Amino acid sequence: MVGAGVGSGIAMGPALTLRSDSYIPWDIEGAGSNRGLLAIKEALHDVDQDLAKLEPNAEAIEIIEALRLVLRDPELLASIKEFLADGANTQRAVSGAFREAATSLSKLGEYFSDRASDVLELRTKVIDKLAGRKDAVWPDEPFILVTDNLGPIEISKLADSKIVGLVTSSGSPASHTAILARAIGLPTVVSVLGAELIASGDFLILDSSCGQVFVGPDEIELSQYGQAMEVNLLTKSIRTVAAHELPVKLYANLGSSSEALSARDFGAQGVGLFRTELLFLGAKEAPSFQQQVLEYSRLLAEFPDQVVIVRVLDLDTDKPLPFLKLVEKGKYANRGFQALLANPEVLETQLLALAKAQENYPQAQLWVMAPMITSAQQAKTFIEMAHLVGLSTAGVMIEVPEVCEMSVLEDIVSEVDFLSIGTNDLTQYTLDKDRLTSQLAVIDVRKPEVMKLIERVISSANSHGKPVGICGEAAGDPESAQKFIDFGVSSLSVSPALLPGLVEQLT
Ligand code: PEP
Ligand code: MG
Repeated sequence: MVGAGVGSGIAMGPALTLRSDSYIPWDIEGAGSNRGLLAIKEALHDVDQDLAKLEPNAEAIEIIEALRLVLRDPELLASIKEFLADGANTQRAVSGAFREAATSLSKLGEYFSDRASDVLELRTKVIDKLAGRKDAVWPDEPFILVTDNLGPIEISKLADSKIVGLVTSSGSPASHTAILARAIGLPTVVSVLGAELIASGDFLILDSSCGQVFVGPDEIELSQYGQAMEVNLLTKSIRTVAAHELPVKLYANLGSSSEALSARDFGAQGVGLFRTELLFLGAKEAPSFQQQVLEYSRLLAEFPDQVVIVRVLDLDTDKPLPFLKLVEKGKYANRGFQALLANPEVLETQLLALAKAQENYPQAQLWVMAPMITSAQQAKTFIEMAHLVGLSTAGVMIEVPEVCEMSVLEDIVSEVDFLSIGTNDLTQYTLDKDRLTSQLAVIDVRKPEVMKLIERVISSANSHGKPVGICGEAAGDPESAQKFIDFGVSSLSVSPALLPGLVEQLT
């Protein structure tokens, strides 16, 4: 599962799921509006005292103090009284008054939407207090919390628990939740599509450096990430130096601009694959030009003078988007560039947004590439479109065996400014296997029929003097990575958290 990674680092452990939405209807037995009001005042006071007892870190202090002011706000109390006078029970009076406060905040604009959701968390706390519900008791063993959202109050309380990671299905990397999680150094992935499918007890690996959550990981993933955790603890100071001794560039695979900081921290020398799907997944309509400019600009701002390779939208058949037309026929229908050709306005907006971001940050070297190219004509079309909007460096991904045929490959190489090999897809389509068989990415890629194609692509690119990188999972496997280096690859792009381990094994 993917989302937007926040902070840096890896967490491993069992999931603990928590849903924050279930209100149990209740009322104080026989409470008239006077008794109700007294109980509510007491609950507001008690929650305020609870907040006063928290020891929030620097980032949280301001947020918590703002919430304490809400609890003491005379307007809030007046609104509660009105609800009670209109015959609402205590729960509905509290709920209604807080909802109104949150709504007025969110009307002030996007900047206040975080404040609004914090106020809703506060509402839950007050209602819990009125109902006599106790705070959650966290386990004594390390756990990864999986929830729909988590407000600043709960995060501040969690700081003393055995939590090792946080997964949320909603929220953005700029939310208060994300800021506070980063401040307490908690590996976190927010906005994870499908997080509600995770059950308590599922074993998880959470890689916040690239926004990935592995549910029930296999032995290979466990050992790869286990080693990465050890190396990351030990080699903090030497990793960047060692990377420069290698004959290839070491880039980061990212899915959100929020992961840029951690990529730099792990010594990435640029971005080899920025997946843009997160902007589109779960959305009812295509992200606007402005939204995209903002996200791409944030990314470029973090990598002045470095190569940043952004991939245009790569759809998968299992994730249809409501605003995209489907392709009816074809082996690779509704994937990658084919799907974009059926939706040219989406591709055009994306390219224009990328060109604008490059204009905003001219010092970053923005390269763009198209996924799942299936013919030389498609490569030509994409390169022309990208150049036309002023994106000077455009390339394509090699992910299907058909484009590794010598004649097709030569035509493609002569069109592009660079190539990137997506070994995850190339392996699945060459061996005709299901990608969900996770060994595919790291083990099956070593099969001679796959390696032969990879070697051919690298040598063809080299003979034309064009850069060629690898950005599939296999790039993070030292055994395969060494082979790619021997074939003459120019860059390897992997999850940032895996970079130090890779450097250690390759040098
Ligand atoms: C690949 O196929 O190797 C790749 C990097 O693309 P994705 O995993 O996003 O399909
Ligand atoms: Mg792919």
